[in-house]
Amino acid sequence: MNAFLEVRSVAKAFGGNQVLRDVSLQIAAGEIVGLLGPNGSGKSTLLNVITGFTPADAGEVEFDGTAIERLDAHRIVRTGMARTFQLPSMPSRMSVMEVAMAASTAHHGVWDTWLFTRGARQAEREARDRAEQLLAELLLTPVRDLPASALSGGQKKLLGIVCALMARPRMLLLDEPTAGVHPNLRRDIVTALQRLNAAGMTLVIVEHDMHFIREVCTRCVVLDRGEIVASCRPDALASNERVLQAYLGA
Ligand code: ADP
Ligand code: MG
Repeated sequence: MNAFLEVRSVAKAFGGNQVLRDVSLQIAAGEIVGLLGPNGSGKSTLLNVITGFTPADAGEVEFDGTAIERLDAHRIVRTGMARTFQLPSMPSRMSVMEVAMAASTAHHGVWDTWLFTRGARQAEREARDRAEQLLAELLLTPVRDLPASALSGGQKKLLGIVCALMARPRMLLLDEPTAGVHPNLRRDIVTALQRLNAAGMTLVIVEHDMHFIREVCTRCVVLDRGEIVASCRPDALASNERVLQAYLGA
């Protein structure tokens, strides 16, 4: 497999708690990989390490041929990798549109100095166009002027996806995009992710919902107590000994 993302021997402990042990994993361009595992198995921590939000104690991460394990999160975004959060937090005073716009500049710190230049106005126009387009694609146009903090949990997840996409990533990592989301919105999220993948986006999705996984994912990787115990097609999960062990605690 020609790896688009390669994780090699990553380890991470918090105090005496060894959360990731020797995690290695390869993802090819165009895959939709489900990252599964019981609560506390290290899924969010692995996403945090890959995307630069948590430094690993050991190991390497290579994205599209570039070593990224020492880069800050905002530099990693610029290499073409974006992520969403398990519990999106929204600023209380900004509108949905403003939050989306702010995401386009979150990865460079020069916004203030640009603000009154022609380049800045051009950049702002582009950000506005892109935000409008993404809000429409993720069905948030009707709420674009509401405070972001007033959105439902599911709508906040959609806005989290919009924000991640503002940076035009080639790979998107999503942490429980449908957890606590109303079934109607869940369908919209599935459709949006499938459309993104059809347009070339590689996806890694932390998810518990087996219907979602079977419908969306081309492959599943299963974590148990900080170790990868399986990598298989969704339809092979139920007969995989180590997956059953992970979930039944046997
Ligand atoms: P999952 O997403 O699979 O439910 P997490 O990666 O969130 O698991 O957590 C794995 C373990 O790491 C848990 O025991 C959790 O308490 C611990 N952990 C995660 N983040 C931190 C942190 N910032 N500080 C201390 N412990 C943490
Ligand atoms: Mg988690």
